[in-house]
Order: sequence, then structure tokens, then C-alpha cells
Amino acid sequence: MNTTHHPDEATLMEYAAGTLDEAFAVTVSCHLEICPDCRKSVRAAEAMGGAMLCEQVGAPVAEGSFGRLLEKISAASGEGGNTAPAVMEQVQPQSPGSVLPAALGSYIGRNVDEIRWKRIGPGVWQHPIRLSDGAKSSLRLLRIAPGRSVPEHGHGGQEITLILSGAYRDEIGYFGPGDVADLDEDIEHQPRVVSDEDCICLAATEKPTRFKSLAGRLLQPFVGI
Ligand SMILES: [Zn+2]
Repeated sequence: MNTTHHPDEATLMEYAAGTLDEAFAVTVSCHLEICPDCRKSVRAAEAMGGAMLCEQVGAPVAEGSFGRLLEKISAASGEGGNTAPAVMEQVQPQSPGSVLPAALGSYIGRNVDEIRWKRIGPGVWQHPIRLSDGAKSSLRLLRIAPGRSVPEHGHGGQEITLILSGAYRDEIGYFGPGDVADLDEDIEHQPRVVSDEDCICLAATEKPTRFKSLAGRLLQPFVGI
């Protein structure tokens, strides 16, 4: 698979450090399944982080809801209950009819034909993916017909989209299977599906925390949400 768009380096560092929220961690994990370059970056970041931890003798290690998340991801990909960060050394072979990455297995299975899509507009369907109760991000599959645009949506924050099949083009470029659009809230884009088949992608977004009222927005930096 020829991927040209990858998660930002900062995103990979956060993944390695275990500070990415669930939807983002799952999406990055799906990309790592097919991207040796990013696996290498994550391994390097982990090695660096491990060395830094060793220097801080006695430093408390954050208690791990993230560890449990990684267990879930690695169990889904057949790696057992390993609590080590979920860097997959081996790409799992795709079974016939399956387009979904192994890291999604414990969430929604791996067979795209079993997804129950909900139509949200002309030529656009989605399937929300249920995450752990404490997740601060949301994750969904989007399915968009050829020639259609991804519906306009206000970014409440960071958004990472992984293309699973099909392709789209936007102001940034062409995104095919395996490519990741790692966007911060400042970027506005209007992707249009350019493949002959539907474009299926996995989208992780921060839950919107913006206040609608001006007073709320002015207060927001001080209350820290
Ligand atoms: Zn990559």
C-alpha cells in the first residue's frame, strides 16, 4: 500500500507516550498496521521515552486506562493481552470480504459488509463506534459515494481521518487507502470522493467543547475545557 499522508510527528509521539485519547489511538493504530515508516517512528519515540523514564528513578507512572485500551487493541489483533504499546510488527492478512483493520476488531468486527450504516445525507452514511465511557473523543466510520463531498462539519479540535477504501481529494491533496489526514481545528477543507467506489474512512474527532455563547467562549481559556 502506497501511503503518502501520515499522522503528524507530534501525533505519533503522543501515541508512543500513551497520551492520545481513545479514538485517535485506535485510528493511529490502524494506520500503523499498514505503515512501516510510522511504526519505525513510534518505536524510536518509545525507546526515547523509555530512556527518559529510566532517568527519573521513582517517578510515578501514570495509572493506566491507556494500558487497558492497548490491551483491547492488541487483543483484537491477536497479540494477546500484551500491555506494551501496540506497535504491530506483522501486518495481519486481510480475510476475504474484510476491509477493516485489526485494531477495530473488538469494536465493530472486521467485516465491512456487516456494518449497519445510517444515512446522514445524499450519498453519505455513517456508523458511530462506541468507545470506553471515559473517552474524550469520538470515532465513526464514514461512507461517501463517488462524486460526493464529505459533509461540512465544524472541527471542535483535532481531527484524524484514515482512508480505508476508495479515495478523496481536497485542498491538501489526494488521499487513498492507508492515507491519514491529521488536521487541527484551523484547517477547513471540503474533500470530494474521486474513486469509482464508495470512500470508506475512519474519523476520530475531539468532542466539541466549544461554548456557543460569547460569554462562554471568553470564559473558556480560564476554565480549561
Ligand atoms: Zn505512516
